[in-house]
Amino acid sequence: MNFHILTLFPEMVEQGLNTSIIGRACEKGTLSISAVNIRDYTLDKHKKVDDYPYGGGAGMLMQAQPVYDAYLYVMEKLKTKQRPRVIYVTPQGKVFNQSMAREMALEQDLIFLCGHYEGIDERVLEEIVTDYVSIGDYVLTGGELAAMVMIDSISRMVPGVLSNKESGETESFSSDLLEHPHYTRPEEWRGKKVPEVLLSGHHKNIEKWRLEQSIERTKSRRPDLYQKYLSNQ
Ligand code: SAM
Repeated sequence: MNFHILTLFPEMVEQGLNTSIIGRACEKGTLSISAVNIRDYTLDKHKKVDDYPYGGGAGMLMQAQPVYDAYLYVMEKLKTKQRPRVIYVTPQGKVFNQSMAREMALEQDLIFLCGHYEGIDERVLEEIVTDYVSIGDYVLTGGELAAMVMIDSISRMVPGVLSNKESGETESFSSDLLEHPHYTRPEEWRGKKVPEVLLSGHHKNIEKWRLEQSIERTKSRRPDLYQKYLSNQ
């Protein structure tokens, strides 16, 4: 799967996504992540990419032309002729979740557009954006962290990115439940013992205990999710 990120800060995205599981998947060729610097496409001789908003108001806006030309550059490079989804990360979008990550992981190419300052001239958004997505109800300085959060989570759903050991199948949200608690060695730490059942080797009892823990945890930490779980039973 190929991620293309249109941004004013390519080094931020590249550095943030080149380690651990995602970095390994890029080395293997299961994923590719390329950041395109929108500033490289401005026609302004001083390399300016922003200007004052019409009608007044605080802050600056990213101009349409450099964003559009950076987008055209990515489109020309694409191996497929199918128009890919272009995701504008914005606090005004649909709030991202695990099922969106799973669904987006089926795409071959995804283009992310990262805003900065007060945002981006509406006209270029109308021209190229297919999805408006937020990572939560708060405002960030720029879209780079939002794109990185989404790319990390989508990548984990791409076959071959997680090893069997790291499998995402039983993780939180895979069944409207949060995952059960985990323990590793030693058996006792600061007087706290690993629950007896996990040492029993009795797989059926372990599964039963884990499900009970998941239900209990979801009920106390995420009552909204628990209600969803109950209504799907
Ligand atoms: N003026 C905009 C508004 O009120 O909706 C906020 C602009 S914000 C300071 C700058 C950029 O950060 C946005 O263009 C967007 O790309 C990104 N951004 C901020 N918060 C975000 C969020 N919760 N999810 C995704 N992207 C976000």
